[in-house]
Amino acid sequence: MTEKTFSPFARPLYVMLKPVGSTCNLRCNYCYYLEKRDLYPHDKEFAMSDELLERFIEQYLNSQTMPEVLFTWHGGEPLIKDIAFFRKALHLQKKYGQGRRIENTIQTNGTLLNDEWCSFFKDNNFLVGISIDGSQSLHDTYRKTRDGKPSFNQVMNGISLLKKHKVEFNVMGVVNNKNVDYPLEFYHFFKQIEAHYIQFTPIVETIDGALTPWSIPAEKWGNFLITIFKEWVKQDVGRYFIQYFDATLANWVGAQPGVCSLAKTCGHAGVMEFNGDVYSCDHYVFPNYKLGNIYSNTLVEMMYSEKQLKFGADKHETLPTQCLQCEYFFACNGECPKNRIASTPTGEPNLNYLCRGYHKFFSYVAPYMDFMKTELMAQRSPANVMQLKLSQHPNN
Ligand code: SF4
Ligand code: SF4
Repeated sequence: MTEKTFSPFARPLYVMLKPVGSTCNLRCNYCYYLEKRDLYPHDKEFAMSDELLERFIEQYLNSQTMPEVLFTWHGGEPLIKDIAFFRKALHLQKKYGQGRRIENTIQTNGTLLNDEWCSFFKDNNFLVGISIDGSQSLHDTYRKTRDGKPSFNQVMNGISLLKKHKVEFNVMGVVNNKNVDYPLEFYHFFKQIEAHYIQFTPIVETIDGALTPWSIPAEKWGNFLITIFKEWVKQDVGRYFIQYFDATLANWVGAQPGVCSLAKTCGHAGVMEFNGDVYSCDHYVFPNYKLGNIYSNTLVEMMYSEKQLKFGADKHETLPTQCLQCEYFFACNGECPKNRIASTPTGEPNLNYLCRGYHKFFSYVAPYMDFMKTELMAQRSPANVMQLKLSQHPNN
């Protein structure tokens, strides 16, 4: 998810929008969202109507308690919707905004970007999140067009246009069984394309109880994070912002992390589909997690319903003892519940499949995080960590 965090201590009502549902021009092998089409077997057109757009924007803005409001446009591929739809959205944001500051972020695969889109994003201060899995061969492993062709060149063309129009962008890479073995190639590529805000998300996916080939082994996830962290902490702190590292530091100092998977609870970010159905989370768009429809319930009713509060609290309530007793629980919080498919050595269920990787990562970064925390507490820059000599690290 593309995120702009306004305040680490306040959590306004937040619902991301799917203006074309799961419709996408690409066919990435690992996509978790394409199958959502099956939830709506009787719909031919997956397109949010202008009427629904207005209903959402009016309600969403009226339910906000903060002076700044964030809209997130997501897919599928949201640029399949025409630009007039987004112009209308901006008009409605002004109409119902009552002078509040409104920010827009959009997550796209980048292949449909053109001059018109980029100049629209620049003029209206959108933050654009681009999904890209690293350099050409890494990216093209799984991110394919409908007819199975590679998509890298189209994405890079989109990034060039964003740069040409000086649009603010960040990158989101999916870490899979291929690129997990090339952490530095992955990181250097993003530095080379001048992406200063970098997010990545690990794939853990099962089909009929078996892990998919593109899922990553836990240990490799830990090694991937550590290898990138080693370079980042030596020379890139304050220049490149890596969401996982920032979120880890946030947990170290007791602030709200910018990654939901490392937060204490879930349930703060709902999703509204093209037809007004609202779900608990982008990764839980399943019938059991449907909170209602905006034509019959308000967003406030749905997002603060008992069902959603339970969904949020379950992240903590369903943890195995191993997590509750873990020295890094404050940093990990058992990670995302969707990844809790393993058991502890004593046979307790709900252990996170990536546990070993996370434990290894947190234990490697602990001295650095302690140092950065001390600097922050003393109102000095955490970037001073770059002067900490690696030889002082107990793991070296
Ligand atoms: S279920 Fe996972 S993706 Fe959804 S809010 Fe919780 S941590 Fe985030
Ligand atoms: S590192 Fe493992 S045991 Fe510790 S909180 Fe995370 S998932 Fe649980």
